[in-house]
Amino acid sequence: MKIKVIKSRCPQNHSCPSVRVCPVNALKQVAYKAPTVSEDECIKCGKCVRYCPMGAIQFVEE
Ligand code: SF4
Repeated sequence: MKIKVIKSRCPQNHSCPSVRVCPVNALKQVAYKAPTVSEDECIKCGKCVRYCPMGAIQFVEE
């Protein structure tokens, strides 16, 4: 499993709240764009998946 950001679900008009809950800073956001996940850093804890109110961050099969 890996984390995927579903860009079409992200309004891309705000500072991503999930970036702040990631314990290892694996989520990066440039301006208000949809965040990206650093696969090398992600520990697959699922916090960002639970935190995004838009359901824009999901676990997907690799
Ligand atoms: S699953 Fe956890 S470690 Fe990975 S990007 Fe989300 S909050 Fe960060």
